[in-house]
Amino acid sequence: MIITITMNPSVDITYLTNTFKLGQLNRTKTPTINIGGKGINAGRAAALSGSDVTLTGFIGGKIGDLTQILLEEEKLFNIQMNQVSGETRHAVTIMHDEGKHTEIVEEGPKLDGTNIQELLEKVLHISKEKPVNAICICGSANSTDAFLFPKMIQYLKDNLEVEIPILVDISGEKLTCLLKDSSVTPDFIKPNEHELGDFVGKTITTKKEALEALHHSCFDGIKFVIASLGEQGAVCRINDVYYDVRIPKIEIKSTTGSGDATVGGFAYALEQNFDTKQMLKYAMACGMSNAQHEESGKICREDVLAFTQFIEVTAI
Ligand code: ADP
Repeated sequence: MIITITMNPSVDITYLTNTFKLGQLNRTKTPTINIGGKGINAGRAAALSGSDVTLTGFIGGKIGDLTQILLEEEKLFNIQMNQVSGETRHAVTIMHDEGKHTEIVEEGPKLDGTNIQELLEKVLHISKEKPVNAICICGSANSTDAFLFPKMIQYLKDNLEVEIPILVDISGEKLTCLLKDSSVTPDFIKPNEHELGDFVGKTITTKKEALEALHHSCFDGIKFVIASLGEQGAVCRINDVYYDVRIPKIEIKSTTGSGDATVGGFAYALEQNFDTKQMLKYAMACGMSNAQHEESGKICREDVLAFTQFIEVTAI
């Protein structure tokens, strides 16, 4: 089983309109509504791959009730979200004027130490009931504790009865705090080129630059580091061996959630005990398949398997 932790899910509302005028009344057709949050998206990709997935994290208020209902309707996961005070957030995207999009993203309910402790206890409890192959901690949290993620990872590592790989997909200050200022080491991280660039303080656009960044000593000890570069594929550091992953060019619909699908695909591949090259191919193919869907985390397993045939992984 795979457990994902989503600290701050969202009800994602997307409006499609030809024109959008600030300060005026804009009328649109009914929006599409999806439940978002990096852990949920990763869970979707893993579940559509064939994993038994349990979603954990926080929902709150009436919007939290809606989140629960819409997740249940997907019939993909076991849902074990904790209740928190406040309302689960909305994230509104307005797609307008040929390719532009304007986003309004709420901050979501504030989390305190008790909320976090209850969540961690739940994860431990679930992992006692069934064998768990990966725990994915993905996305932001509305918490002022800069050390929240290192503390969570340390607590899980100290208290899990068996060793379970902890996959982490976070960014910005929280990633820096985890990798530079704490002694705890996650088993997997997946920065994209921007996140990696922010982390090492350089602009990264090429694989050569990404490869150089992956040699940073802060990545020492992390078994799986995937630096994803959108349509260029990825450069990875797996058990201190570096790999170039090349992907074919494909038609895309929306790359939102491709990174999350990559994480979910990787968790599935770990669960299946794939070898390194197979794992990387499967994870990349999930990101690609997601890019062919409007919904974040959505993949088509047949397409994923077909894409893996055309992905090349070479040690460099
Ligand atoms: P994030 O969503 O975290 O920014 P990326 O954009 O790097 O992550 O996407 C993750 C993976 O999804 C890529 O490594 C690739 O396999 C796939 N992907 C993303 N964008 C494209 C694209 N335009 N064409 C093909 N595959 C893509």
